Amino acid sequence: MKYLSDLRSYIAALDELGDIMHISREVDGDLEPGAITRRSCEIHSPAPLFANIRGAQPGFRILGAPAALCSRPEMRYARVALSLGLPADATGPEIVEALSAARHLPLVPPVVVEAATAPCRQNVLQGDDANLDRFPIPFAHERDGGRYANTWGTLIVKTPDGRWVNWSIARVMKVDGKRMVGLMVPSQHIGQIWGEWVALGQPMPYALVQGPAPAISCASGIPIPAEVDEADFVGALMGEPVELVDAVSVDLKVPASAEIVIEGHVSIERDCMEGPYGEYGGYLGTGSSAQPTFHVEVITHRDDPIWPLVVAGRPTDESHTVWAMGIAADMLTHLRDAGLPVKTVWVPEASAVHWLLVVVPSDWRKHLPDMESEAFAQRVGEVLFSTDASLFVPKVFLVDDDIDPTNLEDVVWALSTRIHPTGGRAVFENQRVVRLPQCYTEEEYEARLGPKVVYDTLQPAPEAGRHLHASFEQGYPEALRQHVLRHWPE
Ligand code: MN
Repeated sequence: MKYLSDLRSYIAALDELGDIMHISREVDGDLEPGAITRRSCEIHSPAPLFANIRGAQPGFRILGAPAALCSRPEMRYARVALSLGLPADATGPEIVEALSAARHLPLVPPVVVEAATAPCRQNVLQGDDANLDRFPIPFAHERDGGRYANTWGTLIVKTPDGRWVNWSIARVMKVDGKRMVGLMVPSQHIGQIWGEWVALGQPMPYALVQGPAPAISCASGIPIPAEVDEADFVGALMGEPVELVDAVSVDLKVPASAEIVIEGHVSIERDCMEGPYGEYGGYLGTGSSAQPTFHVEVITHRDDPIWPLVVAGRPTDESHTVWAMGIAADMLTHLRDAGLPVKTVWVPEASAVHWLLVVVPSDWRKHLPDMESEAFAQRVGEVLFSTDASLFVPKVFLVDDDIDPTNLEDVVWALSTRIHPTGGRAVFENQRVVRLPQCYTEEEYEARLGPKVVYDTLQPAPEAGRHLHASFEQGYPEALRQHVLRHWPE
């Protein structure tokens, strides 16, 4: 599969699969794109591409659900797979494995191209013209605190000493034409770098990039280690360097083929109210908090630009696909680096990033001869809960590989029948907790500390009487099954 180097070639590839819903009728610029995008996530329809938005300049488009589930059930992860240069029918575990494998590849630094050849420089808006009001930025949900100017764009920031350039996705709310306000979580990489600018007493230069190559969006939305440039990671993942161009007004480089680039500085005080916003846990937001202001100074864009729109909420949206697979890949990498036998790690979409399944090979006892499953569960928790990405994951399940973690019927059956009502778990008290997972008490959110758990669902060893399934597959002689299948349907 070839690496798709811009959003437009990606949309063309989805269109070939029948996974783009072209919406040429006029939609309003307030709630309708959000409502349609949300419904498309819930019924797994093709991704909506809005070509006629009331109040927008002709030619301006919005792409909804850029990396949610594909409308074709036989290739449900095609949007993520194509984004990452994998075959459209790659399975979830194959995508997780590719993301994990890339962590051990040599980094490939980006290359810088001339501004004259960079599509993102086709239009340069400065001064009063650099105004967000020129762009139809819709509301994601009715009760949000404002229009969200970032739901899927890449935020680019750099440490003051230039050693580390971070690409990430975080929600940013539009305040007015010249200001936005973004959620700045201190433990996240952008928050760490912002902290360095705060210590220096200087506003932080940023670029907010809408619609870069889809691999860039995916890499920006998943956890990779601190001090590693996502640009170099994308190069490693794709096997070729990313093309960047100098930003117009700040000392940053931006993806040359991006649809829209917003440049400016972030204040070093939490001087503006952000939120509420409906989030990936599946609930509308209720609170708001003081966060730093993103001042808009320059905007550049391609001709007829395309604005990507993610509408977070009940599964399945990009948090439950890309982010969840990225967390799974990060955890898989950590567990294997710790010498533990793990077949795959998977976050079921329907769990809204609250469940993480660690699938172990049936011969795991050969690799850990002196370990009982209780101790194995304890060890898995020790490794996982020390990582940054585990911040968001409250519940881990250690499961045998007779279960397909991507099949919810398998998962619900196994978790129902293999967990003792009160036992069979390793509890980790006083772990770091943030407000995004839904399952904690107000006291725990205030204290930023709460419990996490690893459920031990592993079955006894085969020689100890491992349970065979009462299934067509395992409950009958092979010859009889073949006979039945030959005559099916009766
Ligand atoms: Mn990072």
